[in-house]
Amino acid sequence: MWVQAHAGQALVCHPLEAAASHLFTTRRWPLGSAASANRTDAWADVATALDLDPARLARAHQVHGAAVLVAGGQRAPAPPCETPRAPLPDADIILSNDPTRGVAVQAADCVPLLVADRRTGAVAAAHAGWRGLAVRVPEVAIQRLAREFGSRPADLLAAIGPSIGPCCYEVGEDVRARYATAGFSGPQLGRWFMSGPRPSDKNLSMPSVAASRRRGHWFFDLWAATREQLESAGIPSDRIYVVELCTASHAGTLCSFRRDGSRAGRLAGAIRARN
Ligand SMILES: [Zn+2]
Repeated sequence: MWVQAHAGQALVCHPLEAAASHLFTTRRWPLGSAASANRTDAWADVATALDLDPARLARAHQVHGAAVLVAGGQRAPAPPCETPRAPLPDADIILSNDPTRGVAVQAADCVPLLVADRRTGAVAAAHAGWRGLAVRVPEVAIQRLAREFGSRPADLLAAIGPSIGPCCYEVGEDVRARYATAGFSGPQLGRWFMSGPRPSDKNLSMPSVAASRRRGHWFFDLWAATREQLESAGIPSDRIYVVELCTASHAGTLCSFRRDGSRAGRLAGAIRARN
C-alpha cells in the first residue's frame, strides 16, 4: 500500500502495520545519495514518520554480513545536534523490543526486510543482498529475535521491501557457486537462479538487460531466496509479504545501484517496536 508521508511517498505493508509502525521509503527521500545535500535531515524525516525523535532511530554500518545489533533498551539522552556522531557499528540486522526506538536499514537493490512479533512487539530490520542471503541473514534475524526477546516464529510477520527482481538481477556463476558451497540444496538453487530474465507486467526488465542468456550468467530471485529462508526459520508462509517491486525496473520511484551506479540514492526500511 502506498502512503503519503510528510517527506514523500512511502510503502506500508498493511498486515505488518497492525503489528508495528513501519515504512519503506522511495526515491523522493534523499537518503545516501551523493547529490543529497542534507542526509541527516532525510533520516530525521524517516524517524519523524515513525513518530520518533531522530536520535531514537538505530542504524548500522552495513557490511553485507549477518552480524546483529541489538538496539539497547535504556533511554540515552539525545545528543545535541552539533555533536559529531559516533561511527555506526558494523551490522546488517538490527533488533529492538523498545517502543521508544526504531530500527532502520538502507538499500539500493538489496532486500530491506522488516519483521514484527505480534505477540511481544519486538521488531527487526535487516539488509540482505546476495552476500547476505548466502550467509542466511533472514534465518539469523529470526533466530536472534527468539534468543533475545523470546519471539516464536509462528507469531512473526515479515515484509520484503522493494529490491532488484529476477527481471533485472543478472549475476555471475561465482554467485551461484557461493550458494552451492554454503550448503543450499540443488532444488533451492534451481528455484533461485534462472537462465534468463523473468519480467512481469509489474516489473519490466530494465533496458540494459540482455533478453537472452549470457554464458556463465544467471538471474537471481532475491525474493524467493528471502521468502524461503524465512519459511525455513519457521514463519508461516501466509505471514510473509513480498511487495514485488523491482528497484531497477522503477526508475521514477525507486533507487537502484545496478541501474544508477554510484549516483544511486538509498531506500530506507524502518520499523518501531510496540508495547
Ligand atoms: Zn527489474
